[in-house]
Amino acid sequence: MKHCDVIVIGGGHAGCEAAHAAARMGVKTALITLKREGIGVMSCNPAIGGLGKGHLVREIDALDGVMGRVADKAGIQFRLLNRRKGPAVQGPRAQADRKIYREEMLSETECRIGLEILEGEVIDLLMQGDRVCGVVLADGCEISADAVILTTGTFLRGVIHIGNIARAGGRLGDRPSVLLAQRLETFGLPMGRLKTGTPPRLDGRSIDWSGLEMQPGDENPVLFSFLSKSVSARQIECGITHTNSQTHDIIEKNLNRSAMYGGHIDGIGPRYCPSIEDKIVRFSEKESHQIFLEPESLSDHTIYPNGISTSLPVEVQEAYVHSIKGLERAEILQPGYAIEYDFIDPRSLRPSLELKDVQGLFLAGQINGTTGYEEAAAQGLVAGLNAAHIVRGKEAIVFGRSNSYIGVMIDDLTSRGVSEPYRMFTSRAEFRLSLRADNADQRLTKLGLDLGCIGEDRKAIFLEKMEQLDRAKSILSTTTYTPTQLNAAGIGVSQDGKRRTGLDVLAFPNVHVEDLQSLIPELCDMAPAIRVQVEYDALYATYISRQANDVDALKRDERHAIPSDFDFASIIGLSNELKQKLVGARPTSLAQAARIDGMTPAALALILARLKRGN
Ligand code: FAD
Repeated sequence: MKHCDVIVIGGGHAGCEAAHAAARMGVKTALITLKREGIGVMSCNPAIGGLGKGHLVREIDALDGVMGRVADKAGIQFRLLNRRKGPAVQGPRAQADRKIYREEMLSETECRIGLEILEGEVIDLLMQGDRVCGVVLADGCEISADAVILTTGTFLRGVIHIGNIARAGGRLGDRPSVLLAQRLETFGLPMGRLKTGTPPRLDGRSIDWSGLEMQPGDENPVLFSFLSKSVSARQIECGITHTNSQTHDIIEKNLNRSAMYGGHIDGIGPRYCPSIEDKIVRFSEKESHQIFLEPESLSDHTIYPNGISTSLPVEVQEAYVHSIKGLERAEILQPGYAIEYDFIDPRSLRPSLELKDVQGLFLAGQINGTTGYEEAAAQGLVAGLNAAHIVRGKEAIVFGRSNSYIGVMIDDLTSRGVSEPYRMFTSRAEFRLSLRADNADQRLTKLGLDLGCIGEDRKAIFLEKMEQLDRAKSILSTTTYTPTQLNAAGIGVSQDGKRRTGLDVLAFPNVHVEDLQSLIPELCDMAPAIRVQVEYDALYATYISRQANDVDALKRDERHAIPSDFDFASIIGLSNELKQKLVGARPTSLAQAARIDGMTPAALALILARLKRGN
């Protein structure tokens, strides 16, 4: 029987990142997926990043993942969202050429040393006791492995809905994964159904662009990868149009024909990516909704109308699309549809994304109840790194809420579970002033170097950048200046007699490195990227030092690991309700226990006391 150290099932966003991460860690990895050309396919919107999601992409990149570099190569319109707000909540976003993205991801995956791509459908898992030891393909072929990562996205028992027509499918044009879903059921895992939807695709040549507002990308594109220097692809504009009262009338009259509203779908959908039916019902006071007309590729005419995802019958889709300005004669190339699929309650996972009850089996991506390419990729990375560690017999790698959005997401999923498809937002991170997109490399690349998942190119670029940053900060902090000296240099500080360093002054809003050049001439040689980074770091330094106590407390609690056989039920003084929740959730650290709904400081103190005494 063929043997691999790690098998990754699925070549979507989670699967690619998982397979690359495991291979970067030096273990022999196989990526098994239904179709080779399906590797890196964007099932829905042709865009990467955004608020919170852009942070995830930067963090993946900081750990030498692939998504950021591929998105930079495929980007046809870059926009930094929240540009006018502080850097902590700015989100890099790129509209991607779907074809280039897929081709680049395939090429990166084919070139990765230690990673083999196999085409096929995994239908069964091989077990030795409660440990997974390989997979069985539909053609009967068996492959053994020390760890298996499942990243099957929307494919597990996927059902596609258009109006009252339902048919089996993993996404349009792909078959679902049914046998594997049935096999997972035998593990007794808590499973549920979720749903998501996508809009009809339009032929750009049939759109009347003449009266539409056009939106260009940023003049100075902000890229995802710390390695990328400039955009590769030609940049394009998007069109903007709106729904109107006629559109709303058509949709309202046909609501009962929508798969979601006609009672054909049981699964719960993403509240933050509502279908056009949802918008019309939930925001009935709104007379119009904005639609971005996003070209899907430089090499074909397909347009993604962002904002009108639907599961209405095709003829209703046609009618409402034609009621919209510019789309009067638009031809629908592919109808919108909803998809319903199985997911596994992520509370059954450890923070390493290994199942608590099935050793060596990891889950990542949409299968864990998330939505979005970036969320999937970030989980893939965590699962890939941890699977490699299992193979090597090393301890789990746990990302914390204080060091990354990745840690926030994994902790949210594994300790709180999901009641709807989970999507990342900056508001989910309590330490968002320190978890910025701009400093993802400072937060994570050193960790990646210690783990051994960072390539030589990134290592050299990172170490050089850190050296320049340290030098710049040391220049800026060695000398102090009086308010008179600073005022003379044109920097408006109050005459409080306090001496300040250059770094202190950069913490004031609207003070830039250039303003200090007359006082500190060495600053003239500083590279533009380092200037910006020093300014951001200085701006947030005070807030971050104020947060330090909270971060320390969290880290302390995270260090209090709770053994898997810890007996919550026998702790005297805990309410029965909390005991039940703790037994169900099986938190792996005191920090995770703290986030269980209804947890109290007194209950935590009881758990801590028992931990200190030994179970
Ligand atoms: P996927 O990208 O789905 O990849 C799954 C992979 O597993 C595929 O390569 C498949 O071939 C492979 N596979 C499945 N079963 C097997 C098997 N048995 N053996 C081998 N290989 C297998 N996200 C948003 O953020 N917003 C949205 O509005 C949105 N709408 C969506 C609408 C639709 C219709 C769909 C289909 C998806 C939508 N998404 C949306 C979700 C987005 O596509 C996913 O979040 C993302 O692709 C998940 O990545 P993944 O790697 O988990 O799974």
